Amino acid sequence: MEFAESLLLWYKTNRRDLPWRNTRDPYRIWISEIILQQTRVAQGLDYYLRFTDRFPDVAALAAAPEDEVLRLWQGLGYYSRARNLLAAARSMNGVFPDTYAGVRALKGVGDYTAAAICSIAYGMPYAVVDGNVYRVLARYFNIDAPIDTTAGRKYFAALADELLDRNHPDLYNQAIMDFGATVCTPQSPECARCPLAESCAAHASHTETSLPVKEKKVKTSTRYLTYLKIVAGNHTFIRKRTGNDIWKGLYEFPLIETDKPIGDITRLTEMPEFRQLVGDKPLSLRMLHKGIKHVLSHRILYADLYEVILNENATLPDYLRIPLADLPQYAFPTLHRRLTECE
Ligand code: SF4
Repeated sequence: MEFAESLLLWYKTNRRDLPWRNTRDPYRIWISEIILQQTRVAQGLDYYLRFTDRFPDVAALAAAPEDEVLRLWQGLGYYSRARNLLAAARSMNGVFPDTYAGVRALKGVGDYTAAAICSIAYGMPYAVVDGNVYRVLARYFNIDAPIDTTAGRKYFAALADELLDRNHPDLYNQAIMDFGATVCTPQSPECARCPLAESCAAHASHTETSLPVKEKKVKTSTRYLTYLKIVAGNHTFIRKRTGNDIWKGLYEFPLIETDKPIGDITRLTEMPEFRQLVGDKPLSLRMLHKGIKHVLSHRILYADLYEVILNENATLPDYLRIPLADLPQYAFPTLHRRLTECE
C-alpha cells in the first residue's frame, strides 16, 4: 500500500476529535495552528477555546487591546505569537485572506502554517512540513539528511510535496501531523502498533530513534533574575517589558539581571541597581524565593524574589504603581507567576 494511502486509512479510525478539526473557518484554523506551533494539544486546547470564545472572528481580535490578548495567552510562552496574531488580524480589514500568498504574508505565518491553513480551510494542495513530518519521513524512508540545513530542508520539502495526496490535502496533512504526534513520537515511537511498520525502512534497520538527524547543537545560555516585589502600603510596582528579548509586552516586578547569582541579601543591598530602585533605607527586606529554575528553549533561568517594604507614599520612576489586588489583571510570564503564586 502507498505511504499516503496507509496514512489516510490510519487517520480514518484514529482521528482526534478536536474543535479545529471540525471547521473550515480559516480564522479558527489559524488560531489553532499558531497555538500548536510550540504547545502540545493537551495544553493548547483550553487556550484555543478561551481565545476563540473571546475573539470569535478576525474583527473581534483586531479590535482587542494588546494587554488583553497577552493576558489570554499568559502561560503559553512564546509571546511573540500572540503579538503577531494581533498585528496580522489588524492587517486584514476584517477578511481572512483566501490565497496562499495572502496567508503566507500574514505576520507570524511561515511555510508550514500557511500550508496547514490553506490545505485544511480551502483544500489547496500544499504539503505541511514541521517537526512531526520531518520525523515521520526521515524514519519511514530512513533518510539521514540533516533537517536543520538548507539542503536538508529542501530535500524534505520536495519529498513531502511528492507524497501529498492532492485529492485530500486537508486529510493527508492532518493525518501525518497526528501520526507523528501520537505514533511516530520523538523518544519512543510505537513501532509495535504502527500500520507502516512493515514498509518502514528505519524500523527494518533499527535506526528509528537516531532519526531525524540535526547538524548543529543548540547553544544554551544561563541568566540570573532577581525580582523585587516592592510594597508601599497596599500598592506595588510593575512595568511592561520592551525591547527585543523574551516576554516582550508582558509585565514584571522591578528586575535586576546578572550573569551570576547575587548570593545574599547583603550583596544585593550593596548593588547600585538596588540602591537606585529602592534607596538606602527600605523599611524591611526579606527573601521570598531563591534559585527557582525555569527552562525555556535555549535558556536556563534562575530567579530570586525579594520583598521590599517602602513608605506607603513611595513612587518609582518608570514603574506603574498599582494596587496589590490588581496584579491578576496583568499578564505576567509563567516564571513570574510561579514565584508569586508560591509565596
Ligand atoms: S515503524 Fe516506527 S519508526 Fe517507522 S513509521 Fe512506524 S512508528 Fe515510525
